[in-house]
Amino acid sequence: MRVELLCTGDELVTGLTTDTNSPYLEARLFELGVKVGRVVLVGDVREDITRGLQEAASRADVVIVSGGLGPTADDFTAECAAAAAGVPLVEDAGTLRLLRERAEKRGRELTPNVARMALVPEGSEVVPNPVGAAPLFIVRLGDCRLFFLPGVPREYRALVEGVVVPRVREELERRPGRTWRAFRLLRTVGLPESVLDARVAPLARAHPRVVFGFRTHAPENQLKLMAEAPSQAEADAALAAAEAAARAELGRSVYGADADTYPGVVARLLTQARATLAIAESCTGGLIAAQLTAVPGASGFLVGSAVVYTEQMKTAWAGVPPDMLERHGAVSRPVAVALAEGIRASCRTTYGLSVTGVAGPTGGTPEDPVGTVYCALAVDGGPTRCERFSLSGDRELIRLFAASHALELLRE
Ligand code: ATP
Ligand code: MG
Repeated sequence: MRVELLCTGDELVTGLTTDTNSPYLEARLFELGVKVGRVVLVGDVREDITRGLQEAASRADVVIVSGGLGPTADDFTAECAAAAAGVPLVEDAGTLRLLRERAEKRGRELTPNVARMALVPEGSEVVPNPVGAAPLFIVRLGDCRLFFLPGVPREYRALVEGVVVPRVREELERRPGRTWRAFRLLRTVGLPESVLDARVAPLARAHPRVVFGFRTHAPENQLKLMAEAPSQAEADAALAAAEAAARAELGRSVYGADADTYPGVVARLLTQARATLAIAESCTGGLIAAQLTAVPGASGFLVGSAVVYTEQMKTAWAGVPPDMLERHGAVSRPVAVALAEGIRASCRTTYGLSVTGVAGPTGGTPEDPVGTVYCALAVDGGPTRCERFSLSGDRELIRLFAASHALELLRE
């Protein structure tokens, strides 16, 4: 099946908005075994859109179009679709009724610009939009079917899931000899990509039906497994075997799979253990707290985080003795330990976590150069653990890895 994507909008060709709709759909189609043949971005110019639709339809079996279905003057994709198909625009009664109901619910009149969203090319199939106003419509042009979707990413994705993916899957199922696929994304921390690659290489040879792919998304490295087989059951079985082998080989480095996030997994562990946490962050400046509070339900375990950036604050908020700071320096093992123990004691939590380090690009000493980071974890009733890391990269990367190493202490 040949599929092409066409996205419309001046914002996409003037550097204002990055096209995120296409990558979303490409990934979903690839899971079905379809590789998108071409993606075209077109500005808000009627002739360009009309010609773009005709050209894509002449090459592809299916074209997915995004944007320009709204009520504003720069929304004229339906007009272009009608022009490309050589048919007039007609009012879709069902859509008009839905638009009127929507307006009434909001206590508004149905204005002519909103009513314009009910105009679709004659002969098109109209599917209501469950999360917005402009409907999806499908137009036939020769042997090609063109799906028109609103550009707003939330609406686009809802209609991709509700309409495009099911229709494409149905059609693929009717075609003989297709390949079935199954996917798993394993997420790892703490292993350099080269080590990951070396350890996985023998597995790839032992599982010929599975393609092993790597992706670095600092601070994690991802291992993507894609199984291909003549039936879904065989693809699922091949994937399960390869996944089990990869998990056995990589052990605790695999922190999660698919949509898991690293802070999310740590948050789940703390919640399950009914533990509480307080943090004292120096070089990460609140990054760990930001990552953990991005997880819904973080208030169940996170008591708070102090950004103890200066020596003054390390003393005032976490009780680090000034003479310790003077003797060892702020980036040192004793200070990391004192920060973790001090913040835990003052917040009366199960755990106290601390980070202190040199994020660069300047600073540091010959013994503790840029990239030196100490992370410590104090535990209610147990010994405090402290680890020293020598990180490389720019300031942003050092801070990201420092946060991830600190979280790693909580996972252990
Ligand atoms: P609306 O009813 O909002 O006008 P529409 O179907 O006319 O919907 P557009 O006007 O083209 O869609 O885009 C609406 C918003 O969605 C824009 O602000 C734009 O930033 C965003 N958007 C449009 N296309 C894309 C895309 N391909 N990727 C990411 N964002 C997009
Ligand atoms: Mg618009």
